[in-house]
Amino acid sequence: MSNNFKPESLMMTYGYKPELSEGAIKCPIFQTSTFVFKTAEEGKAFFEVAYGLREKEQDEQLGLIYSRINNPNLEILENRLSLWDDADDTAVFESGMAAISTVLLEFLKPGDLILYSSPTYGGTDHFIQHFLPTIGVDFAFFHPDDSKEDIREIIKKTGKSEKLAMIYIETPANPTNTLIDIQMCRALADEFSTDENPTYLCVDNTYMGPVWSSPLKLGADLVVYSATKYIGGHSDLIAGAVMAKADLMQRVKVLRTFLGNMVSPHTAWLLLRSLETLKVRMDKQSLNAQEVAKHLSLHPKIEKVHYLGLIPEGTPEHEVYKRQYTSPGAMISFDIKGGEKSAFKFLNQLKLIKLAVSLGSTESLAQHPATMTHCGLDPEQRERMGVTENLVRVSIGVEDAKDIIWDIDQALEKV
Ligand SMILES: *Cc1c(COP(=O)(O)O)cnc(C)c1O
Repeated sequence: MSNNFKPESLMMTYGYKPELSEGAIKCPIFQTSTFVFKTAEEGKAFFEVAYGLREKEQDEQLGLIYSRINNPNLEILENRLSLWDDADDTAVFESGMAAISTVLLEFLKPGDLILYSSPTYGGTDHFIQHFLPTIGVDFAFFHPDDSKEDIREIIKKTGKSEKLAMIYIETPANPTNTLIDIQMCRALADEFSTDENPTYLCVDNTYMGPVWSSPLKLGADLVVYSATKYIGGHSDLIAGAVMAKADLMQRVKVLRTFLGNMVSPHTAWLLLRSLETLKVRMDKQSLNAQEVAKHLSLHPKIEKVHYLGLIPEGTPEHEVYKRQYTSPGAMISFDIKGGEKSAFKFLNQLKLIKLAVSLGSTESLAQHPATMTHCGLDPEQRERMGVTENLVRVSIGVEDAKDIIWDIDQALEKV
């Protein structure tokens, strides 16, 4: 197929051959555990490749063996997802946390050090702080407003800089939308990387991907997603994904085969459905969010709006924003005057927008990070990150923008 087609033009058909499925226009759900070999010789050849006993011959496909290793729904989904980030390959998992924990387990060994950006997703933070030390992996973290020199000092202070195996970042930081410079992190990783102990850069791109940002092109080695969010996009499934160059993906996929945490055929099928509308959903969500953010920034009861579209031009942040993103996204947070009481009053009065955590879905959602998604952090760190009692986070959906604004206005009126 021509390489000139945009990913959104290929999401309906790429990688699927109707003639292999009775001519069905859509890929059916391959709800099967195992696959029949035509001959014993074919079964032998499939296993040789799957177990790495020999290299794949040119044009040789990985044969279908067993649904923990591969399945048509999974394979087509992974091929389509790779198109967005121009990745060699993708692995899809049963949750974002499964994707993230598998990557951390594969690339971190006892004695290693991981440096990560804080705040990071709560589950990731817990895994790094509480599980990794039990297998001898140390951690250090930095804040989005730390400079390159600050971060270098943090790494050196651990006394284990020669064992720095991974820099793991989440940008923009949730829930404040503070940006981290991916290229700066790439340069730092290169500075500490050696032939024996490579330092990988892993970016959680859940907040802006895959449509608005391609961290692999900015120097990331690995990109992880909670596909529960924009990729799934309908709040009806849990899934995750990893994208990277072929050699790294090979390692991720081998570990996935043995952990058995791949996504099921049914969920893969739902994700194929979701990918067809990924671009139009995300575009509409962002257009809505731009209108909502502008409206909020003029509202007398709002102190400050944290939104990528409102970063002042000419600032260093704006340069990073322009380099890393093609859109300001659909995640907005804002400070309501009056603390938790006002924030709760606002949330309780919403009629169209639902009070729930998660993000990136067709319906708009609102929540209170300090007492919900970020309640596990110690108060001092919360304060430093700007996760105050005033802060409300909204994920903007595909509804009519005027209806969303109407809802926000009527709820703010009651505050
Ligand atoms: C939701 C989320 C995760 C975890 O994904 P699950 O699909 O819930 O396991 C990881 N990172 C970010 C940024 C998220 O928003």
